Amino acid sequence: MTIILKPGREKSLLRRHPWIFSGAIAHVDGNPASGSTVSALSSKGEFLAQAAYSPNSQIRARAWTFADEPVDADFFRTKIKSAIEIRRRSKVERQSDATRLIYAESDGLPGLIVDRYGDVLVLQSLTTGSEFWKQTIADILLEETGLQTIYERSDADVRELEGLPVVTGLLRGAITDRQLPFTIAEHGLKFSVNFESGHKTGFYLDQRANRLRVRELADGRDVLDCFCYTGGFSVNALAGGAKSVLSVDSSADALKLVSENVALNGLPASSHACCEGDVFQLLRKFRDEGRSFDMIILDPPKFAPTAAQAEKAARGYKDINLLAFKLLRAGGLLVTFSCSGGVDASLFQRIVAGAALDAGMDAQIVEHLAQASDHPIALNFPEGAYLKGLVCVKG
Ligand code: SAH
Repeated sequence: MTIILKPGREKSLLRRHPWIFSGAIAHVDGNPASGSTVSALSSKGEFLAQAAYSPNSQIRARAWTFADEPVDADFFRTKIKSAIEIRRRSKVERQSDATRLIYAESDGLPGLIVDRYGDVLVLQSLTTGSEFWKQTIADILLEETGLQTIYERSDADVRELEGLPVVTGLLRGAITDRQLPFTIAEHGLKFSVNFESGHKTGFYLDQRANRLRVRELADGRDVLDCFCYTGGFSVNALAGGAKSVLSVDSSADALKLVSENVALNGLPASSHACCEGDVFQLLRKFRDEGRSFDMIILDPPKFAPTAAQAEKAARGYKDINLLAFKLLRAGGLLVTFSCSGGVDASLFQRIVAGAALDAGMDAQIVEHLAQASDHPIALNFPEGAYLKGLVCVKG
């Protein structure tokens, strides 16, 4: 089966960007099944890519390869082996037993995310293409990792855009009693992880390096960890010798796990407190109460998944960063993140600069932070760079 592009619309595929939008297609030859492989041709009939067809999505096809080669089990084995080898070479498994093995487009496998939590692989299939090949991929994953269990977490909202239903549960093997309650070890600290119902595949693996950085910077500080989820930053701050840590999240379930994770690491419960609530409101309340901190971490959820929501997201980021600057003592550190694809690093920096200005504070950026190395960014797919962070010192 083939799809033929409109004149001039071959440009992005020639730059090896994997997405083919519905508006770029002049003609679909035949009636390709959802997720099946189609050849993408230019208007002049030149071969451009082998791609997975997605009849319901605006992104009508995603390139598996820009070579005229078969897309079959051998193809997936080569890609999967290469993704695993990249992690092996970067020695990420020395940092943690919870790592990302496959990061979708960034590893040349659109729609496929595979994270390893100890002996369990957690797979997320986000597109019709990864869905079409899921069973083949599952077999190869077990063969290439030597593991036996794959848990599927195909419950991300984006599946709806592909016309795919929510699927969760065991895809291969079993979860044994020995594995529960499930804990991972990251940079020498333990975390309880629920890969069956936690956010993403259970843990924010992308923040691994930044959590360690917070540990290194937290010594002797009063720390406020906003949007703390299960306490990745809070636990690291305590382990780094923070004087006190206040963990804030709107989810009571997440906060329960923060306390568990503090205890799991034998850290002093007396230095830690949790506060359930809305960060936007709580920061105002703390300001009105005249409270102050030496380190504030802001790691909010995605305010802008795409550029269309950037303006509204910018207001949200500015609001919390402005309030955080006000709550910081002189010499205090703001560790602030955005994981919004629609807000790029330079826009984020401008938002934080605007927040400092409106707060009437001088501040310096002392560090730029990004996603961990097992979330690589393919140069032909800049959209893969989504997490950016700044460490700012208040003057
Ligand atoms: N820092 C965490 C990840 C943060 S995920 C880590 O390293 O593991 C974002 C968190 O923000 C979620 O736990 C969610 O419950 C929480 N959240 C979302 N909106 C919120 C709000 N308005 N106020 C407080 N918490 C919020």
